[in-house]
Amino acid sequence: METIIQEVADCLATSVNAVVLTGAGISTESGIPDFRSPGGLWSRVDPGEFSIDRFLQNPGRFWRLHLQMKASGDFDLASAEPNAAHFALAKLEQMGIVKCIITQNVDNLHQKAGSVEVVEFHGNFLRAICMKCKMVEPISNVESRLDNGDEDVPRCTRCGGLLKPDAVFFGEPIGSKSLMMSQVQSQKCDVLLVIGTSLQVFPAAQIPLTVKLKYPPAKVIEINMEPSAMHKQVTDILMLGSAGEILTRVFNCVQERILQQGAMQSGRN
Ligand SMILES: [Zn+2]
Repeated sequence: METIIQEVADCLATSVNAVVLTGAGISTESGIPDFRSPGGLWSRVDPGEFSIDRFLQNPGRFWRLHLQMKASGDFDLASAEPNAAHFALAKLEQMGIVKCIITQNVDNLHQKAGSVEVVEFHGNFLRAICMKCKMVEPISNVESRLDNGDEDVPRCTRCGGLLKPDAVFFGEPIGSKSLMMSQVQSQKCDVLLVIGTSLQVFPAAQIPLTVKLKYPPAKVIEINMEPSAMHKQVTDILMLGSAGEILTRVFNCVQERILQQGAMQSGRN
């Protein structure tokens, strides 16, 4: 493992445009259940509740379920804290190494850890958005209005439009801005870190294919508990294990390497 950590650290330290793609697996160490694995959220909640058709049919029902899930701690994203993996990525961005994180997660944990350049492919469940005028507000505001019994179906305070979590529901398209940003990043990327995603959901799963098909192809480094569905096609370096543990070691190694480079340069001057 130590040699692979060194190799990954070298790749990152010499990269020009390292991009990160993350999925639910990076947040399980923060206590957020993933969706698809056994025991994941979809084994307890019907994924159909998160379809746009059902939401529009009966938004009040969705929001009641949302409050129940939050109260039971099943999907209480606001209380979750970033873990070592999120912090390592944020520090790599501060060092100028990671240029952008494209995440499939809606949990806000990258931003909470300090990452700035984050493309939220599936939106952010800590915000609510007005379906009419697109104004956003913290979902906690909406939750307190519902908890107080002020409203059954939350409405926009500006225009009275229906409020929905600012996340992509089943049957809804990915936001065009996120799609465009991820395409731009894929074209620029020379090292792609794929973390905690099974690469089964498109269009996010398209990103590693795109970076491999361009010339010169980017190097793809995958960190997962289980190999992703596409590891044979796209992955150059596969590391299996806890993202928090592996990324902490990678970060320490990158930092050491950069300090050494700095020492060598100041020795030369
Ligand atoms: Zn509105």
